[in-house]
Amino acid sequence: MRNSNGAQNSLWQHTAIKLPTPDTLNGSLNVDVTVVGAGFTGLRTALELARKGVDVAVVDKYEPGWGASGRSGGQVNPLAHAQPNEIIKQLGPVFGPRMLDNYIHSADEVFNLIEKYDLKCDSVRSGWLRGAHSRSAIPELEQMAENWSALGLDIDSVEGNELHRLVGSEAYSVATRVKSGGSLHPLSYTRELARVAIEKGAKIFGNSEVSSVMKKGDRWQLTTGSATIDSEWVVFCTNGYTDDTLKGLKQTIIPLISVQAATRPLSDEEYAQVLPEGHTIADTRRVIYYGRKDNRNRILLGSLGASEYCIGPDKERIHKAFATVFPQFKPEDIEFYWGGKIAHTKDVLPHLHEPAKGILAGLGCNGRGVAMGTVMGRILSERILGKKQKDMSIPTTPYDPFFCHRYHEVGVSITTKYFEARDALDVKFS
Ligand SMILES: Cc1cc2nc3c(=O)[nH]c(=O)nc-3n(C[C@H](O)[C@H](O)[C@H](O)COP(=O)(O)OP(=O)(O)OC[C@H]3O[C@@H](n4cnc5c(N)ncnc54)[C@H](O)[C@@H]3O)c2cc1C
Repeated sequence: MRNSNGAQNSLWQHTAIKLPTPDTLNGSLNVDVTVVGAGFTGLRTALELARKGVDVAVVDKYEPGWGASGRSGGQVNPLAHAQPNEIIKQLGPVFGPRMLDNYIHSADEVFNLIEKYDLKCDSVRSGWLRGAHSRSAIPELEQMAENWSALGLDIDSVEGNELHRLVGSEAYSVATRVKSGGSLHPLSYTRELARVAIEKGAKIFGNSEVSSVMKKGDRWQLTTGSATIDSEWVVFCTNGYTDDTLKGLKQTIIPLISVQAATRPLSDEEYAQVLPEGHTIADTRRVIYYGRKDNRNRILLGSLGASEYCIGPDKERIHKAFATVFPQFKPEDIEFYWGGKIAHTKDVLPHLHEPAKGILAGLGCNGRGVAMGTVMGRILSERILGKKQKDMSIPTTPYDPFFCHRYHEVGVSITTKYFEARDALDVKFS
């Protein structure tokens, strides 16, 4: 891996299936579609196009899964951050319900894909618990369950001793449970998507950073360090790693850093005590705690952070998360720390843009990209295969840039501290 930026420190790098060796692009290439970014979104786009006979190339600055996809928690969480009525209000009566539908079926889509192509990624479908971190968080959490359940999502509430048993600790007294959720090995999932896309005819290139995109006749020309690619369509799937190549796109998202840690291999007894039925867990903290088993022999916990290397205060936050959720594990039990960038959008919903004929961008899954990135990739492919914008299940919107985007790091740092203080107050006065 040419530039690790924290990616090589992850547990997943040490336990993933082998990567089909990506070629480096040299000279010039002509294809129908070029996808920039080889994460869940870009690779699903490529897979769907290739299986329909479209000549598609995927280029990544480093390698498939180098971005958030290969470093994520691997939780397949089929729910939006907002209440359904807020999403309808934001997107209107046509696209609102379609977006809700995307979320509700997103976990099914991932697990169906895994089954269809026999993707070897340690997937387990045993549900997702979302715990209330304080008493004041319970009403909103329960309302969420009620509203999403009314739309057909299989979601209920668990509390008291039964919840303590399912978590393996007394950290939460009430949680919602989404039965269609689950977990997978995110780097293996990404590499398996790459493998199947290649088998269907896609070309995948690593170590190929796209530095410019220019109109050339009725096609687009991309430039990397050592090559050019001409294509009718270019699809940007760069999410939290979006740079200035496509003017204006970077300003539509705030890259937030998510960090996590994994324990040493545990004894059978230690492993069995935690999340005994294999649920994933996340909570209602503004500065979230999320965790799972690796489906082998370790426990993972994560939160928000400031560095992709998960150092200094980020490590301390992770230690605090363990002390709160799984206090039996001490800092000396932790073997891996790492982090990566997720893309936060203003309305906390995924965005699809078509800033010019033949250019698409799909990004902003706001920390829920295992499921929604997989869905977004399919939706992007449908547009290229001829679906009209008005018929798609995510609206095509103009850029909505963040005000004072260049100062986002300062803003995020202040907001994180403020939110953490509010989370602590919630707990104190619970
Ligand atoms: C620590 C962490 C934990 C997470 N946990 C979860 C979880 O449990 N569940 C969940 O649903 N989501 C989770 N997420 C979020 C999830 O990982 C992302 O939403 C998802 O991976 C986004 O996928 P993507 O394909 O859109 O982008 P990415 O996987 O980030 O891929 C973008 C790619 O674009 C490439 N790129 C950028 N610019 C260029 C360029 N100019 N030229 C060529 N290539 C370029 C990058 O190299 C990168 O590989 C987590 C994220 C992190 C960081």
